Amino acid sequence: MNNNRPLVVKVGGSAGINYDLVCDDVAALVKAGRRMVLVHGGSHETNLLSKRLGKPPRFLTSPQGYTSRYTDAETLDIFAMVYAGKMNTRIVERLQKRGVNAVGLSGLDGRLLEGPRKASVRAIIDGRQVLVHDDYTGKVTRVNAALLNLLLDHGYTPVISPPACSNEGEAINVDGDRAAAMIAAALGAAQLIILSNVPGLLRNFPDERTLIPHIRYAELEQALSFAEGRMKKKVLGAAEAIAGGVDQVIFGDARIAQPIQRAMNGAGTVIAP
Ligand code: ADP
Repeated sequence: MNNNRPLVVKVGGSAGINYDLVCDDVAALVKAGRRMVLVHGGSHETNLLSKRLGKPPRFLTSPQGYTSRYTDAETLDIFAMVYAGKMNTRIVERLQKRGVNAVGLSGLDGRLLEGPRKASVRAIIDGRQVLVHDDYTGKVTRVNAALLNLLLDHGYTPVISPPACSNEGEAINVDGDRAAAMIAAALGAAQLIILSNVPGLLRNFPDERTLIPHIRYAELEQALSFAEGRMKKKVLGAAEAIAGGVDQVIFGDARIAQPIQRAMNGAGTVIAP
């Protein structure tokens, strides 16, 4: 055992995120001796590639108001090309250029991120509730923490992205924020930093002056009502991480210099028990 509790950082995949600044900061922290895991998204690039390949993205909205990418087998291929392909490779490249020995992994590698595939997905389409059966999506319920610790113990920095691995061994699309929350809990991380293209959770999105600086765990339910679209998943992930023993979850801005260190010092929305 060591007393250097790891730091888990999730960097989103929306437009405007500055991966160079994020990687500069990862390099500074790793050089200072931090054990770090980086989880990343790729939603914007996936939308662009989907359009270029003539298969425009489609999204499903659940009766509870959560949106997710409709991921049939063809979409899953595009998803993997972007997440485990271009995005992961380019982030690992950025880190290698900065002297960090990064190792890129998808959730399939070593069953790093595992969980059940949904048999069907309930969605509201044209005001009617329908069941979608050919969706390759699911939820991470198990993290191969031993694999991550093996890498961390030998000085490697894991860079992780969906897809995850279903219990049957299929590739499935999972939410990156909630996967990062599971990773943080499994590793006993002190902090989970979730970086996106907004300064944090905004009371009146998109007015950045309405940033909510602190949320207590007990107030997360209420915070869910301010979050729209995919921000809801971040709030849910934060709740899961705290319930899993993570001390603090911080929503920070990935468009500025030193995005991780600033968030670690409290810039953004800090969520704590
Ligand atoms: P990423 O891909 O970076 O993980 P998402 O696109 O999933 O990020 O989620 C961040 C987005 O959530 C923001 O770009 C913003 O459009 C949206 N959003 C919705 N409601 C809020 C809110 N209350 N505060 C901040 N962002 C919000």
